[in-house]
Amino acid sequence: MQKKVQKLILDGNEAVARIAHKTNEVCAIYPITPSSPMGEHAEAFSAKGQTNIFGDIPRIIEMQSEGGAAGAVHGSLQGGALTSTFTASQGLLLMIPNMYKIAGELLPTVFHIAARTIATHALSIFGDHSDVMATRQTGFGMLFGGTVQEAQDFALIAQVATLKARVPFLNVFDGFRTSHEIQKIDGISDDVIHKMMPLDKIMEHKERALNPKNPVIRGTSQNPDVFFQAREAANLFYQRTPRIVQETMDEFYKLTGRKYELFDYIGHPEAEEVIIIMGSGEGPVKETIETMVAEGDKVGALIVRLYRPFDIGYFIDKLPKTVQKIAVMDRTKESGSVGEPLYLDVVAAYAESDRPMPAIVGGRYGLSSKEFNPTMVKAIFDNLNAETPKNHFTVGIIDDVSKTSIPIDKLFHTKKSTFNCLFYGLGSDGTVSANKNSIKIIGDTTDHYTQGYFVYDSNKAGSQTISHLRFGPDPIYSTYLINTADFIACHKFNFIDRYDIIGKAKKGGTFLLNAPYSKDEIWERLPEKTQQGIIDKELKFYVIDATKVAHEAKLGRRTNTILQTCFFAISGILPKEDAIKRIKNAIVKSYSHKGDAIVQMNFNAVDKSLENLFEVTYPKKVTSSKAFKSFVTNNATTFTKEVLAMSMAGKGDLLPVGVFMPDGTFPTGTSQYQKRDIADFIPVWDDVDLCTQCNKCSLICPHSAIRAKVVDESMVSEFPETLGSVAAKGRPFDKEKDKYILQVSPYDCTGCNLCVEICPAVSKEDENFKAINMHSKKEVVEVEAANWNHFIELPNYDRKELKVDNVKGSQFLQPLFEFSGACPGCGETPYIKLLTQLWGDNMVIANATGCSSIYGGNLPTTPYTTNNDGRGPAWANSLFEDNAEYGLGLKLALNAKQARAQKLLKLLEP
Ligand code: SF4
Ligand code: SF4
Repeated sequence: MQKKVQKLILDGNEAVARIAHKTNEVCAIYPITPSSPMGEHAEAFSAKGQTNIFGDIPRIIEMQSEGGAAGAVHGSLQGGALTSTFTASQGLLLMIPNMYKIAGELLPTVFHIAARTIATHALSIFGDHSDVMATRQTGFGMLFGGTVQEAQDFALIAQVATLKARVPFLNVFDGFRTSHEIQKIDGISDDVIHKMMPLDKIMEHKERALNPKNPVIRGTSQNPDVFFQAREAANLFYQRTPRIVQETMDEFYKLTGRKYELFDYIGHPEAEEVIIIMGSGEGPVKETIETMVAEGDKVGALIVRLYRPFDIGYFIDKLPKTVQKIAVMDRTKESGSVGEPLYLDVVAAYAESDRPMPAIVGGRYGLSSKEFNPTMVKAIFDNLNAETPKNHFTVGIIDDVSKTSIPIDKLFHTKKSTFNCLFYGLGSDGTVSANKNSIKIIGDTTDHYTQGYFVYDSNKAGSQTISHLRFGPDPIYSTYLINTADFIACHKFNFIDRYDIIGKAKKGGTFLLNAPYSKDEIWERLPEKTQQGIIDKELKFYVIDATKVAHEAKLGRRTNTILQTCFFAISGILPKEDAIKRIKNAIVKSYSHKGDAIVQMNFNAVDKSLENLFEVTYPKKVTSSKAFKSFVTNNATTFTKEVLAMSMAGKGDLLPVGVFMPDGTFPTGTSQYQKRDIADFIPVWDDVDLCTQCNKCSLICPHSAIRAKVVDESMVSEFPETLGSVAAKGRPFDKEKDKYILQVSPYDCTGCNLCVEICPAVSKEDENFKAINMHSKKEVVEVEAANWNHFIELPNYDRKELKVDNVKGSQFLQPLFEFSGACPGCGETPYIKLLTQLWGDNMVIANATGCSSIYGGNLPTTPYTTNNDGRGPAWANSLFEDNAEYGLGLKLALNAKQARAQKLLKLLEP
């Protein structure tokens, strides 16, 4: 047994990368979310000079694609090196041709996979098993881990087993849920790795390598006379692999005390109803079964570890003979098939066994990281309990089209033994990093197990993040989102007007709010429902103006360490002084490379935090009549109001199947209705006479949030008094009649400051005053919003009159790309905006995968829009690797259309 177990606090990617780096000589990598951190860690380990267990620094080589990485792995294995790679989703699909070769040549390797959804009607960076299931025919073994601990342990078990069996392996764990979940786990010492790694098998692998001393030929071309027989020649290797994996697991158990089996059974020994599942879904299944068995239900679950090769003997032996009904849960969808892959395997396994066939139904869950929690597991057992259980069902969605979904009993609860915290932050505001630090601090300082999971959408920045942190005395299997929180913090005040932030607070819990209001003012600023919730739940309510503290400490918008300090001060998880000491240590670690001054600024912010933290004494009755703000403007389309707004409100899970177009089509022009309202400071056109009307501010704005128009002076009389205008300068304008206006959209501006920075019009009297200047939004927002609402309805100048081949002229054209979710200050979007101003009414876009496909095509809203004639860019994205070809295809189709139109026109010639 491992003598002293090192506790590690890390996520699944890092846990796996550590083992891969210690057990390999070469890693050929290519990044793809959510597996990229594994390659990055391996690269960083080697860059720091860390060695593998043989004392060598592994060579990490980044290739041009996943196809290239797989090719390099293939070659390196034939050269005799221990070699690995990391990937997910389409990246894994690009490896398939080489995977057949590697398996066909019996080369030992492990590919570590953070399993992710394959793009179909839409791309998704989130997790399910559609990628790995698309490779189950390649001949690779497949081990599934459901937790960070298992992902790490199976990385080693797979590595040892592949060397012994000569069958290559995928070490699979769920993208995001496991790859990005931070857990406190038991590490594996080098001593254990040394003992596990079979040196004789490593030597055999090296001796088989291509070598001119003993030359052989591989990868030949074969004909009908021999190919078939040679293909069957490897059968015995697959037949013995399950036994080898089990023996490896047994050896691992002896050395570490952690026991695994090819199929792990949990639950009642005489269970009548059983769920079969693999991956991170095992967590809620385990918790639900514990609760149900304690209440006397005869239920159980079989957790599949070794999915390929699938061993019927081991599988059947692990299931109680009492089983009458089985639900097989697949985290993938195979349209048109009899059933999903695990379901088909289970049915076939029973058919080939000597056991009578129980009632077996298949279900789908968790596609694209859809939530899977104990209420859903209970729903699966309720379905099994029905007289005629629904087959090929779905759980976790409402399917009003083909009626596959099963109902969920929301009142079902499992026992909770953890302290649960929720933190609402704005993307890139540092909330997630601070919480990662907090987990490390708590995990290092206490005996508690810790878990951190971070929910963000794929917007580049500026959207909401929710950090889910659990701490407790027992190992944490809750691989699902927190529903009842002991502590809730809202780091962005604007959220309070839109979201039911305290909806998940438990009675007597604690609520921390970052707000630009004092403890005496804050109560009146809350919506009615929030006040009612605080009173009903008897919350301890704290407020701090962290933005002001950060500003005074010269930290700009970085409020993370301030709010982290408040969390430790009021949650009582650690003694306050101890926590502050550790936060400061973390600051030194994070910022010392930026210099002492930055470290000191953060120290000051920490010290000032507690002086500015106040408990709010609130009345016992509601005083507000304020409702939550709508997520979209009143003029939004019905689809935007009924569908997209639900997604913006964080209620997308409640949307039924029937509201979606089955081919993935969505309307454009919807970002105009989503007022994200994320800036604390916005620009105001302060001096119309100082302004040179150069339009540089408009050109540079990444969000099309500041715009210029020239209108006839007859319209000025209808302007709100606050909307400024001035005689328009330059051609083609008539300075006697035409008025120039510059206006910002306050709820779409991200406060990036670029427009003010580029403005050349500086006051002679005050060098800090320009034609436009940043103002505190809360002081100007009402006026500027009214101005914008009027401005946007004003006509655009006749484009035929404008000279548009210069900065100034181009900015009077309507942008057909606006208010995207790109990062504040983005350098790409101004160019896209300009393209749409010049040619947007005639554009068809084949968008390469990357930032521009995310801010361009990420739901809920889309920034491409239309002009008054309804014309605008039509947009689509194919794959990471084929955009040039995809664009060429679009062009060929357009050419064909054009040729036909020309032919038809010619027919009309007299
Ligand atoms: S601050 Fe940034 S987002 Fe706002 S108007 Fe200026 S350039 Fe645009
Ligand atoms: S950059 Fe400055 S001078 Fe130029 S149009 Fe904008 S506000 Fe006026």
